[in-house]
Amino acid sequence: MSRIAFIGLGNMGAPMAHNLLKAGHELAVFDLSASAVQGLADAGARSAPDARAAVEGAQVVISMLPASTHVHGLYLGQQGIVPHIADGALVIDCSTISAATAQAVAQALAARGLDALDAPVSGGTAGAAAGTLTFIVGGEAAALERARPYLSAMGKNVFHAGGSGAGQIAKICNNMLLGILMAGTAEALALGAAHGLDPKVLSDIMGKSSGRNWALELYNPYPGVMENVPAARGYSGGFGVDLMHKDLGLAAEAAIASRCAVPLGELARNLYGMHSLSGAGTLDFSSIIQPLLKDQLY
Ligand code: NAD
Repeated sequence: MSRIAFIGLGNMGAPMAHNLLKAGHELAVFDLSASAVQGLADAGARSAPDARAAVEGAQVVISMLPASTHVHGLYLGQQGIVPHIADGALVIDCSTISAATAQAVAQALAARGLDALDAPVSGGTAGAAAGTLTFIVGGEAAALERARPYLSAMGKNVFHAGGSGAGQIAKICNNMLLGILMAGTAEALALGAAHGLDPKVLSDIMGKSSGRNWALELYNPYPGVMENVPAARGYSGGFGVDLMHKDLGLAAEAAIASRCAVPLGELARNLYGMHSLSGAGTLDFSSIIQPLLKDQLY
């Protein structure tokens, strides 16, 4: 069993850390939110007063933070942890961030002789809780082999996308598609319901037809169609509108860098951006259906 520092205990990080504890690892945890730290301390983790104290003596460092700026600050900022990580430790950042930030962090760690992986995840909060996440990994194959036992405690599938930053590129391609699919699914369900269809029946029909997709079948945005999804609990928890907007922004940056056209990705980014501006930023991203529902327009 290993000594692991886990930093970032939000909607995703907390259940992931719980699964590492369940697998028998020793955890030191830190989050800016005291209540998030308390939840893990109650389950047997050591609560650290700051990120530096968390990584002291850790054999593995795992971070799960919102965006590039948080990851940059944690590792490379004025109080950055890179100089404080123990020799020989393995670093795994699971946040979804820009490939450039992932590469900058990996380079700083490599300069200290430390193995680093970008390992963003797919599978949502349900997958994090169930320990069935998919890890999309960028970095050296040997570092990935070292990481496998820890990733397996939190997930079911591990893909090696390529070198440093490749995990992030693969992840943002996936999330750009997800953002588009959720917005399209929401439009179709709202249109059917406006014409008197039962959204549950319409979901069943499309789920067995060519409109079938993950958002429709496993994360249905229409309230009342599925249990145990954010739409069933007022769009709380889950994957925030602001996080989806951030990922679509990462896709836009990547598209600009490679001179690729992503017209639907850009349209989706604007939709989630406007939804956020209307006050929905912290709601789950499936709430993108809200401005489309007829009852709310009139
Ligand atoms: P979240 O906002 O729920 O949690 C982030 C946590 O990080 C918060 O508890 C916050 O207090 C903490 N934090 C921020 N800065 C910190 C710092 N400097 N030091 C310590 N703690 C700090 O976000 P989340 O939903 O858990 O997502 C985390 C990452 O995972 C994001 O990059 C997101 O895009 C990605 N992701 C999320 C989902 C999902 O369904 N929620 C799915 C796949 C990937």
